[in-house]
Amino acid sequence: MVRLVLVLGDQLTPDIAALKAADKARDVVVMAEVMGEGASVPHHPQKIALILAAMRKFAAGLEAEGWRVAYSRLDDPGNAQTIPGELLRRAAEFGASEVLATKPGEWRLLRDLEALPVPVRVLEDDRFLCSEAEFAAWAEGRKQLRMEWFYREMRRKTGLLMEGGQPVGGQWNFDHDNRKPAKSDLLRPRPRDFAPDAVVEEVLALVAARFAHFGRLRPFRWATDRAGALAALREFVEERLPRFGEEQDAMLEGEGFLSHAVISPYLNIGLLGPMEVCLAVEAAWKAGRVPIQAAEGFIRQVIGWREYVRGIWALKGPAYLEGNALGHSRALPGVYWGAETGMACMRAAVGQTRDLAYAHHIQRLMVTGNFALLAGADPGQVHEWYLSVYVDAFEWVEAPNTLGMSQFADGGLLGSKPYVSSGAYIDRMSDHCGACRYRVKEKVGDRACPFNLLYWHFLDRHRDRFRANPRMAQMYRVWDAMAEGHRNAVLAGAEAVLARLEAGEVV
Ligand code: SF4
Repeated sequence: MVRLVLVLGDQLTPDIAALKAADKARDVVVMAEVMGEGASVPHHPQKIALILAAMRKFAAGLEAEGWRVAYSRLDDPGNAQTIPGELLRRAAEFGASEVLATKPGEWRLLRDLEALPVPVRVLEDDRFLCSEAEFAAWAEGRKQLRMEWFYREMRRKTGLLMEGGQPVGGQWNFDHDNRKPAKSDLLRPRPRDFAPDAVVEEVLALVAARFAHFGRLRPFRWATDRAGALAALREFVEERLPRFGEEQDAMLEGEGFLSHAVISPYLNIGLLGPMEVCLAVEAAWKAGRVPIQAAEGFIRQVIGWREYVRGIWALKGPAYLEGNALGHSRALPGVYWGAETGMACMRAAVGQTRDLAYAHHIQRLMVTGNFALLAGADPGQVHEWYLSVYVDAFEWVEAPNTLGMSQFADGGLLGSKPYVSSGAYIDRMSDHCGACRYRVKEKVGDRACPFNLLYWHFLDRHRDRFRANPRMAQMYRVWDAMAEGHRNAVLAGAEAVLARLEAGEVV
């Protein structure tokens, strides 16, 4: 009997579990472009175009290798426009007895597959370096799941940057040499733009006609096949990796990429694998072309943080998506969808997101994430925004980053304290404040930086939860030492900002 082999848009890896388990001689690969996925949340048009173009090229590659592929284009008549609908249609067409699938990275889709009226075998996605069982065993009995300890296990397991069972250079983490403010007078090689070919152009026209979501579709700069993704990796290692560590937390007006790798979209849809990118970076360090702090910082992001958040996602299940430990319920302010704002840092981060479908981790964590948390935005809406607007965002990686790391919605499972800061951090790490309507040094009054006002408001309104937290006690001492009149003025200023946000006025 024929089996259907489901390959999703973020599973574009030739040896993915479902393909490994399939039989080329008798099984049919099913790939489907469907509105049910493209519009499950308002995904950025560039993200939809990247996935559809990469799917089309991947399908052509499978056919060239002898696979029988049933491929549904978005505008095919008869397309059921959902993954389950397409599987049922293909099952009837081919008389299939079973569906082979690799576990999707979104709980909604897994539930849909499990509810199908045909037998479905869901195989673990073994592209990750740490299996779900391994992560669960590591997490077992631990009160707090600290990434740093997990990362050390992964270094031992992979052997990356290890020598005789010890970390090279005698330490696990070199971040004290990283994270410097960016220098605006430096010339940096920008990641190369991949000019759209005929396949991409056809997809861009389709996406323009079908999706009116937030975000600019053009210019479209992404690679859409493995050769392009490998070229992007090579170029990063040769040109930007040497400065990656020291610039990884910096922000500069008009510099969307700085020295970041910008390969996360390729990793997350399967065009690159985690081990090969780490080996490329390790090799550059071994050859003396990049400093240890750059290589170690990058490898930690991949075998540490990336594997860790995926482990959390798998371990905690769909309930994790409902977390709202701080009881925040404010609607996500319009500025996130491009409404006018006087805050230069927010304008830069959201504008770049609209244009590039990309922002680096500090823009996501310390600007847009920080502001959403300080403003008390509903974490479910914040989660949906991040899942929508970033080209590399898939639930398994986005949800723990947003709900856990950024919004503290999981009550502290990922982070021992919430990632909140006043404007001072943004001022130190960026050049935004000089061009802002607000004054970062002002603590009260109409020109006071909204981050300054909301920071203290956040601490004040969550005093019961955080005052005993040893990592926050000092800030409560600072707050309590301020004159009562000053504290009241700060709180009144913050309330005024929140009222303007709720009224949809420009902040
Ligand atoms: Fe952002 Fe405040 Fe600086 Fe303006 S002053 S750019 S709002 S941190």
